[in-house]
Amino acid sequence: MCGIVGYIGRESAYPVLIEGLRALEYRGYDSAGVAIGNHGTLSVVKQKGRVNELDKASKEADVAGSVGIGHTRWATHGIPNKINAHPHRSADGRITLVHNGIIENYSILKKQLTEKGVSFQSETDTEVLANLIAMVAKEEKLPVFTAVQVALKMVRGAYAIAVLDADDLGRLVLAKKSSPLAIGVSNDAFYVGSDATPIIKHTQKVIYLNDDEVAELREDGTYEVVSLQSGKVEPLVQELDMSVDQLEKGGYDHFMLKEIHEQPDVVRETMRGRLSLDQQTVLLGGIADHEQRILRAPKLTIVACGTSWHAGM
Ligand code: GLU
Repeated sequence: MCGIVGYIGRESAYPVLIEGLRALEYRGYDSAGVAIGNHGTLSVVKQKGRVNELDKASKEADVAGSVGIGHTRWATHGIPNKINAHPHRSADGRITLVHNGIIENYSILKKQLTEKGVSFQSETDTEVLANLIAMVAKEEKLPVFTAVQVALKMVRGAYAIAVLDADDLGRLVLAKKSSPLAIGVSNDAFYVGSDATPIIKHTQKVIYLNDDEVAELREDGTYEVVSLQSGKVEPLVQELDMSVDQLEKGGYDHFMLKEIHEQPDVVRETMRGRLSLDQQTVLLGGIADHEQRILRAPKLTIVACGTSWHAGM
């Protein structure tokens, strides 16, 4: 259950992003990255491992700028490494995005894009999506907000995405299907998160995007949300009357109660993108390279205690 954060406003984006990624660490991840836009230039920093490693690497980079996106990845397509870490950039350099979830028809889309001359750096389905949006924007001469809507109609899968357009860094485009995405609305900035934990310390006004909705957040404080089916929608802005502590407990009195009640969602989120009912297969990107060794192993030892021991049994 990897994480997405985003920011567009007047302040420095980087501190908001890195703190937001720390707030989402509990979801589990194998690598992390950020992209930050600053007056026409876009810098991307990514790193295998913990958010602290990313923070260290960022000290060497130019991370000034007041619009940005960040990601903690849990690999489904390609091993956990720096190249496969998000954000991913389209080959023409225009589109940079982060993505949670899985693009089921990515191999056919990748083939079509390759035939049009696009070359890929990573093994991810996400890089295919970045290039698909860039191709639609270029071929149909569309702004990125519209290009995302057109491209997503060609995509099968589960996604939450945050997209930056190097040609227009005054906008941040988001979209959601099956994976959660929330927008914090304050007077002069927008904060984005896979859940409200990175948002709540900045603002209590939150929009939870619905499936098949695409949003554009602008640096002048305006925004627009459209549904892929029904066009423009007026989103519900909720007032979250909760502290970070309460939010982390999900409205329950105790963490244990929360953990018991959230099991169905956690199992669903954990399996998303890794179980293909169509092809009757299980895809575990992180261990795919060790498949033969695991198959040859004479026995498997599962080390656990307490509840995880019962699960292991
Ligand atoms: N499918 C994407 C990848 O493997 C996103 C994984 C995620 O949700 O973190 O890079």
